[in-house]
Amino acid sequence: MASAFLLDMTRCIGCEACVLACKAGNQLPVNTQYIELIEHTSGTFPDLVGGFQNHRCYHCADAACVAVCPTGALFKEDGLTRLNPDACSGCGYCVQACPYGVPKMQNGRSTKCDACASNVSGGGSPWCVTTCPAQALEYGDRDEIIAKANSRVAELKDRYPKVQVYGETQAGGLGLIVVLPDDPAMFDIPTDPQPVPVSVDIWKGVVQPVSMGLTAVAAVGAGVLGVIARRNHLAELKELEAREKAGVPAGGSESTEEEQ
Ligand code: SF4
Ligand code: SF4
Ligand code: SF4
Repeated sequence: MASAFLLDMTRCIGCEACVLACKAGNQLPVNTQYIELIEHTSGTFPDLVGGFQNHRCYHCADAACVAVCPTGALFKEDGLTRLNPDACSGCGYCVQACPYGVPKMQNGRSTKCDACASNVSGGGSPWCVTTCPAQALEYGDRDEIIAKANSRVAELKDRYPKVQVYGETQAGGLGLIVVLPDDPAMFDIPTDPQPVPVSVDIWKGVVQPVSMGLTAVAAVGAGVLGVIARRNHLAELKELEAREKAGVPAGGSESTEEEQ
């Protein structure tokens, strides 16, 4: 079963209760938070519109962070993207690759929301969901969450003509389904998120050793084939020498008593 969050931005009042509950519940250090309320302005002067984004991990099905993580510290489980900090090497590739700019490095390790894995496995709910006073957050079966989001959109059409569900298809389908009252751009959210091309460090750290490994395998293979070819060649020379000594012409065969 794939699980997901529902975040209804038509209900979110920006109170930050989810931010604080997440920090306290997950015992995050002072300078670490998994949820950020980011203010932004859109439009052109003088028709500027202010708003904020409830920024957190989108739990992409095709998670770029998981794809580039060389140690398996980031992995998918129940449709969500988990992080095992003990397995993190601190390479920072996930930070570079995430199209939403979610993972952050703290004390040499990646850090991001893991959907309160320990809480949820014991039958609880993520801390942010249990705390939201505006019922802007829910958590549950992804299909049911999507149905709820679509039903919210149908209810809100008159009030918000551009209201829409975000996350059904983006990045292979997100584990954070968002009801947006306007276009994603109005919330600084990419309409079609793409993995960010990682820097040359990735090539140096991951691709190059792999390709060098393949080259080494190819070289070993070529060496083995060379030894076999040389052995065959020497065997042919020995056979030729023996034939010459026996007076048998090249390409001919030694006669047997039956043939005579
Ligand atoms: S939003 Fe970023 S960190 Fe979260 S699953 Fe997607 S790629 Fe990974
Ligand atoms: S920094 Fe990110 S990509 Fe690198 S090992 Fe840690 S979790 Fe994986
Ligand atoms: S607790 Fe709920 S209303 Fe408050 S910022 Fe978080 S999602 Fe929005």
